[in-house]
Amino acid sequence: MSPNPYAWINESLATIHRADWYRSVQTIHGRPGAMVIVDGREVINFASNDYLGLAGDDRLIEAGVAATKQFGTGSTGSRLLSGHRELHRDLEVAIASLKQTENALVFSSGYLANLGAITALVGKRDLILSDEYNHSSLKNGAILSGATIIEYPHSDVTALKNLLSQRQNYRRCLIITDSVFSMDGDLCPLPTLLNLAEEFSCMLLIDEAHATGVMGKTGAGCVEHFGCTGKQLIQVGTLSKALGSLGGYVAGSATLIDFLRNRAPSWIYTTALSPADTAAALAAIKIIQLEPQRRKQLWENVDELKKLLQLLPKLKLLPSESPILCFQLPSAAAALEAGKQLKACGIFASAIRPPTVPTSRIRISLMATHESIHIQKLVEALLSI
Ligand SMILES: *Cc1c(COP(=O)(O)O)cnc(C)c1O
Repeated sequence: MSPNPYAWINESLATIHRADWYRSVQTIHGRPGAMVIVDGREVINFASNDYLGLAGDDRLIEAGVAATKQFGTGSTGSRLLSGHRELHRDLEVAIASLKQTENALVFSSGYLANLGAITALVGKRDLILSDEYNHSSLKNGAILSGATIIEYPHSDVTALKNLLSQRQNYRRCLIITDSVFSMDGDLCPLPTLLNLAEEFSCMLLIDEAHATGVMGKTGAGCVEHFGCTGKQLIQVGTLSKALGSLGGYVAGSATLIDFLRNRAPSWIYTTALSPADTAAALAAIKIIQLEPQRRKQLWENVDELKKLLQLLPKLKLLPSESPILCFQLPSAAAALEAGKQLKACGIFASAIRPPTVPTSRIRISLMATHESIHIQKLVEALLSI
């Protein structure tokens, strides 16, 4: 008999188990919020990207229900065929207004927005300079584009400048980076990146997935936080984090958006975002603009936690300037064990391990809807890991 061509999958899984890299899902019951029920037990939720607590907000739910009743469950086709609705246009206008860009384009996820933008902008004859800690969607977008990819050391602008000055005869050059690094919580050095992009005539794409709704005075993201509003660059983001819905977007100049509608395969050849998701994201943007107190509360929570963490000097807190705080642990097994202990104390937090990140850690994300007592319980639980 010939050998089973699928046998290697079992062996590969066994290797994943041995390294403590095995991943599995945990079932969350009920609506998302600061408290959730995981595997039948109520825990305080520090594992969510729902920074402003909007994913369980009645207004988003009602917008989603109303849009479903009016327009149906599915959008029935791609945007260029039968899927485009007024709702999509309204959402794109709202994103462009939040970001203060000429236009925006909504994709069916943030992941697809990165794949689409990068593959449209560069190809075989081009160069991508990519931060080594970038999100998977940026890395895979780069691979899919066929361009030459050079990873630069995390946020190292000196190394980046050296690479740019050695840049050979590539047709075009694109720098890609997270703005808030999703598994670390630190920020990209945006003003320097913009200067370098200008000096070396290079395009710059930043991924504001964890920054939109969170960073900047009006919640427009790191571009606003760093005072770079109006500069020429390509902004990507998601509707699935602080905006509490699903979907992604690119925001930028009118010509960029027009070009992407013609050249981004992950926009052209996929079904348009559903009416419910589109309407919920639109409701979220309105709330972000009308209720700055949510963002204020989120940052007060970050300050409160950081202050209390000074009482725990033994924990190795990674540098953070966002509501994402990570504690480095010596091994994947230690991170898993810490996650279990936190759960036993009623705290839901993610153990993040390779290959997602180079070093294992516990990742905490704060929400505007956390109360002081939640944060105090987290700190007590952290004492035990
Ligand atoms: C979550 C995330 C994405 C993907 O967004 P989805 O809408 O969930 O597909 C892209 N980039 C970064 C940095 C992210 O954290």
